[in-house]
Amino acid sequence: KWWISLLIITRISRTFLFSVKFSPVIYVSYFLKPHLLILRHCKTFLKACNLDLVPFDPDIQTKILPGVTHWQSPDYFAYFPSNSSVAGFLGEMLSAGINMVGFSWITSPAATELEMIVLDWLAKALKLPDEFLSTGQGGGVIQGTASEAVLVVLLAARDKVLRRVGKDAIGKLVVYCSDQTHSALQKACQIGGIHPENFRMLKAVSCRDYALSPDALSEAVSHDLATGLIPFFFCATIGTTSSTAVDPLPALGKITKSNSMWFHVDAAYAGSACICPEFRHYIDGVEEADSFNMNAHKWFLTNFDCSALWVKDRSALIQSLSTNPEFLKNKASQGNLVVDYKDWQIPLGRRFRSLKLWMVLRLYGLEKLQAYVRNHIELARRFEEHIAQDQRFEIVTPRKFSLVCFRLRPPQSNEDYANKLNHDLLDAVNSTGKLFISHTVLSNRYILRLAVGAPLTEERHILAAWKVFQDEAATLLSKC
Ligand code: PLP
Repeated sequence: KWWISLLIITRISRTFLFSVKFSPVIYVSYFLKPHLLILRHCKTFLKACNLDLVPFDPDIQTKILPGVTHWQSPDYFAYFPSNSSVAGFLGEMLSAGINMVGFSWITSPAATELEMIVLDWLAKALKLPDEFLSTGQGGGVIQGTASEAVLVVLLAARDKVLRRVGKDAIGKLVVYCSDQTHSALQKACQIGGIHPENFRMLKAVSCRDYALSPDALSEAVSHDLATGLIPFFFCATIGTTSSTAVDPLPALGKITKSNSMWFHVDAAYAGSACICPEFRHYIDGVEEADSFNMNAHKWFLTNFDCSALWVKDRSALIQSLSTNPEFLKNKASQGNLVVDYKDWQIPLGRRFRSLKLWMVLRLYGLEKLQAYVRNHIELARRFEEHIAQDQRFEIVTPRKFSLVCFRLRPPQSNEDYANKLNHDLLDAVNSTGKLFISHTVLSNRYILRLAVGAPLTEERHILAAWKVFQDEAATLLSKC
């Protein structure tokens, strides 16, 4: 592994050197330091986050690292993962060295072209319908985050319906999702001028593992239509943030289609697993969707930030988000010959983010990426097995991917007491400093979440984590 890393570093360095050869200052400050940092980064990976290797500057040791939460640690199990990898890091480095601002095709044709190519590759790996490919009316674009992705499609959908019904009807537009949908959608509605009363968070069903029932959507849409409102946008989630619930896309998609609504699928975390044939069925029904999003920066070895968004109708995005000031006019754009990604996103400027995704796809390849997510899912399964064998704990929702939702059973069946007990357990476990987990609340129950997904996590880390849970639970229960 070492020599492979060095080989890549040498090759990338040559490219990097070429890109900055006209600037000796940049050469010294940007070339040498990242070069050494990369060596250290590889060592960090190989030596399991040994922090002694990282910094040159003592201030980094004394002032920065003590305040850093180590998302790349193999004992990091909180929220969802945010993967780093040698390939992702090298892509970031090359992008920082080139440092172009690719808002229009002409400002760096390779940036736009590569983004179109890698998002087509990823769409094919996910077996998305061809309408999402750049060869037709749709295409992919890299947004910074899933929040930006849902915002831009909401704006596109809003303007599309307003062109049909007239701008004055904005107060009648209604957005639907489940109460398990990420808060990013609510924020998008606030920004997009959707009346707060027209934001419908439908209750997900606990007996369906917190997925949304199609009946709930159908009833809400019918009710709103009957009162003169205009249902126009629905967001389903594959892998909800709290418990990785999977909304049933085929049935939900039919409802949105028959009501001419925009159908967005948020697979920010779980999308990565869907490159494996055995997990692809979770996004069956994506054929009905207008847009699909997954965060390559979560569980796909691509350094933050890299949120992949595909749309079937790129013109909807462009009509909503394009501007054409004199100072940006150029022959390629005016001739409609190229993609100008500035018209697919909120800001003008954009980084060369496709480089890191390209490197990840090229260096690791589909099979290794599949093995990577499978391994985390298997580790999560083993952790879940330990919980199932210990009567003091219970699994709260069945695990689908690499997130385990569980809690300590209280000695007395009192929900308030159970919630406090689990809250205290989370505090106790995190206070050991040996691992880091997060929590959620489902049906008023405080629940512990352990998300496997850091690149360095192995079975021994899972076992060590389980031991911490057992020890801290024993201490807490002995005080009851
Ligand atoms: N959607 C889901 C399902 C998520 O889990 C998250 C974050 O964890 C988001 C959206 C928001 O992601 P981002 O930080 O990329 O906006």
